[in-house]
Amino acid sequence: ETKNVLNFSPGPAKLPQPVLVQAQRELLNYDGLGISVLEMSHRTSDFSKIINSAETLLRELLNIPDNYKVLFLQGGGTGQFSAVALNLMGLKEDRCADYIVTGTWSAKAAKEAEKYGKVNVVHPKVTRYTGIPDSSSWSLNPSASYVYYCCNETVHGIEFNFIPDTKGVILVSDMSSNFLSRPVDVSKFGLIFAGAQKNIGSAGVTLVIVREDLLGKALKECPVVFDYKVQAENNSLHNTPPCYSIYIVKLVLEWIKKSGGTDVMDKLSKQKSSLIYDIINSSKGFYSCPIDAECRSRMNIPFRIGNSDGDEALEKQFLEGASKLGMISLKGHRSVGGIRASLYNAVTVEDTQALAAYMKEFLNKHQ
Ligand code: PMP
Repeated sequence: ETKNVLNFSPGPAKLPQPVLVQAQRELLNYDGLGISVLEMSHRTSDFSKIINSAETLLRELLNIPDNYKVLFLQGGGTGQFSAVALNLMGLKEDRCADYIVTGTWSAKAAKEAEKYGKVNVVHPKVTRYTGIPDSSSWSLNPSASYVYYCCNETVHGIEFNFIPDTKGVILVSDMSSNFLSRPVDVSKFGLIFAGAQKNIGSAGVTLVIVREDLLGKALKECPVVFDYKVQAENNSLHNTPPCYSIYIVKLVLEWIKKSGGTDVMDKLSKQKSSLIYDIINSSKGFYSCPIDAECRSRMNIPFRIGNSDGDEALEKQFLEGASKLGMISLKGHRSVGGIRASLYNAVTVEDTQALAAYMKEFLNKHQ
């Protein structure tokens, strides 16, 4: 029995329907083995096939150059806030790193990195996250070990549509909430990481793509499970990996490939987000998005209703009405309030059209 729910969750988020159906079909008897992937040793050749095909698919979808390692780690995006600093802070003697802070997640990453080295926030302090400080205001430190930024701030809805120019310093990006939603030139990065639970799978696994020559410089206090070199040498199997989450990632990557790859995800994400932004922009202020036009996220669209500070009673009514139509998880993050629509890869154009139609109807009724 299925219930018609339209899931706009910021993460863990909607998975493609065919992936769920396949996981269900294979749950009790994976590939004729008579057991589930949940019950399979990570040291078997059957599991090796799963993790290897996930890696091959990812390499194909993102055109990852051969001198990059792909790792499947635990600890979430937050684990990577620490792992990045523990592995890369020591790349240069000064043990310092540059951070571009455009929202909650890059701020948390910067705070965590302070435990392991000097952190320089490259731009003047931002009091309210509504955009990306102009790159002409950045003061990059040429002796920084790396420059860090968050490609899509999930809470605030701020997305980079350019790759920061670091003047040769290693670039690190948190792509947790826009991973595989468009092509990326991996060769421009020293490291990219992404938690799986938004665009490419279920919670429990975090993907790391790291350039080979950056391995082996971890600080001595780096936990072995976070040591990229150790994990790379062991094909992410130094210890038990999140096997089932890796299997789900494999299924989602197959689905992305079948759907046409990152170019198609990009096209669809533009189409879906435009449906919502167009309504906001033409609502004469009834709906408002505080984010600068050029860095509005295709993935997470935060908005207020009634006035720019948000009419909370009206917003509550909006959420209740949405819920009656089966539209769930539209409440904004508790730190910013309002509404947030998350439109990851698995959210369909039809789902988004339904939300757009509801927004129009709500506008007509209450404006
Ligand atoms: N980075 C971004 C961009 C995120 O959206 C999140 C979680 N929403 C995190 C990092 C933290 O991930 P986790 O909860 O897996 O630690």
